[in-house]
Order: sequence, then structure tokens, then C-alpha cells
Amino acid sequence: MLKRRTFLKSSFLSTFALTLGFKKSCTNSMITDNEGDSFTPMVISTWEANELANRVAFEIISKGGYVLDAIEMGVRVPESDPKDTSVGYGGLPDREGYVTLDACIMNELGDFGSVICLERIKHAVSVARKVLEESHHVYLAGKGALEFALGHGFEEEELMTANSTSAWQEWVAKGSYDPMMTPRSLMEGMKDNHDTIGMLAIDQKGRMGGACSSSGLAFKHRGRVGDSPIIGSGLFIDSEVGAATGSGLGEEIAKVCASHVIVETMRRGASPEEACMEGVKRIVKRDADYAKVIQAGFVAINKKGEYGSFSIVPGFNYCTHNATEQARLHNAPSWF
Ligand code: ASP
Repeated sequence: MLKRRTFLKSSFLSTFALTLGFKKSCTNSMITDNEGDSFTPMVISTWEANELANRVAFEIISKGGYVLDAIEMGVRVPESDPKDTSVGYGGLPDREGYVTLDACIMNELGDFGSVICLERIKHAVSVARKVLEESHHVYLAGKGALEFALGHGFEEEELMTANSTSAWQEWVAKGSYDPMMTPRSLMEGMKDNHDTIGMLAIDQKGRMGGACSSSGLAFKHRGRVGDSPIIGSGLFIDSEVGAATGSGLGEEIAKVCASHVIVETMRRGASPEEACMEGVKRIVKRDADYAKVIQAGFVAINKKGEYGSFSIVPGFNYCTHNATEQARLHNAPSWF
């Protein structure tokens, strides 16, 4: 039975790449699965800025900790960082001046918790974990999410900083109400100020977990929800196959359920990089001219510990961390 499954898997893998004509294959790998007995833990996150988050997460799993503890503590790093303008405290507000946070978390069993448009609570990822573990629900939004958080011991605090307040005031003074302006800045050679964290990890027992946390697009419409808290869009995990997460223009990521596409593409035998490329391709093929002026980048891991990434335009990077390759920064290959 096992042999037959292995045979089917490997023969499908080689025909899959030929059929879909993938540009290149990824051989990045950090984990050894010793026939299911032990795993070398690893962490991968979107964006260079999340290197410290990876270190914190890795510290937990390297000591035998549970993957979701590592993920939660890792993601709390940028959520606390006032200099990170895309996540948690210091995240840029919506156009009315409110910081509204989106976050989700998923475990090795496929359980999922998410908060949407959460205000005045810094650690949205921790509230999402409470939704996963202590509610009967998957999504909690807005006022209800805040009430749930307060009922679970979280404390309200001001999430605007002096910097985010002045950035918002400058933006209001310009009178430009284009919420897509940030991704477009990539094409104008400006520093990308979206450091939304999507983190995936595997612990020593081979348990896979992931989370995504974001303040969403800067100066977005009030009530706007991105891909980050939506299952299959900003994050998806199927422990039998692998996991995917991403960052970028949430509207386009959500339209193609990109993280789900990536995991399902790996299920059919693609490498993580090939699968991320398929996620990007789904966006590009809808409107290639538009895709050239936006950004979306994905990272993925499979259960063998191979990892990969792909983005629409150059500029997307990600960090990996394991015992032998600490804080490694990679530039993702891109479609254009
Ligand atoms: N994906 C996030 C959103 O659209 C933003 C980002 O990744 O920078 O809300």
C-alpha cells in the first residue's frame, strides 16, 4: 500500500511539472523527515523586516515547543513594533484614521481562527488564536471581535503612534483617496512599506502552523478587509501537503484564493516555488497589465521541508530560519 502510494506520488510529480510547463523547480530544503520520527524545525516569513520574528519563533520550536506557540510569539514581534507600519501597533490607519487589524492563525489539524477589522488591540494574532481555541467560530469581525478580545482578558490601547498620525495627516492633506497607492509605489522605486507578516513553521514533531497579521492597505476604506484574515487567501495549511501564506494587494490575492491554490498545486506534485508561481499566475492571467503595477508575493513549505517563493514583480523578499541557516534572507523570483 505504502509503496504504491509512493510510486503514484513520484510519477505524478514528474509528469506534473511537464504538463504545466513550470519555468524552474525549487530545491530549497531545510527539514529532514526521518520516516516521520523527527523533524528539524524551521520558520519562514514574508519580508526582511520579519527576521526577528523568525528568531523568536525558532527559539521556541528548537527547544521542542509547540508550533502554534512559536508562530504566535513570532508574529507578536512586528505587532509590537511601532516602526512596522503594516502590522499591529504603529500600523497605518484607514482613511478615517482608525487602525483596523486583520489576523488569522491555523494549526496542524486545519483548525482556523481569525479576527477582522479589530480595533485597539495590539496582538490580533493572539485574539485569532483565542477564536481558534476558545470559540465555536472561525471569523469574528469588528465590534464583536473587540468584545470577544476584552472578554478574554485583552486590554484596549491606542495603536496610533506619532509617526502613523503624521503619515495619516500628510495623506489627508494630499486629498488622494487611492488605497492602491502603496503597492504601486513599488514600481516607482520607492521603499515598499508593506511588511505584513505571513509566517509558517514546522516543529520537531512535524506539526505545521501558520499565521498572518496585517493592518491592511494604508488609508484603506473604512471596513475594508484584505486577504490576510481569510482562510485560503492569506493563509492555508494542509499538513498532508504543506502550507502557504503571502503579502501584497489583498483584493487580488483573495479573488484567486491564492494560498489554497498554492497548497493544492503542491498536492499535485509541484515544488513550493512552482506552486507559488501558480498562485502568482492566477493573478497575472486575470489582467497582466494591471498585475505589472501591483505586488503579491507568496511563501510556501511542503511537509518534506522544502520551501519556495514567487512574486508578481521584483522586490518581494522573505526570511528563513533553522539550526544551520539562521536568519537567511532570500529575494523571491518574480513573474515580471
Ligand atoms: N495583504 C495585505 C492586505 O491586502 C497587505 C499586505 O500584505 O501588505 O491587507
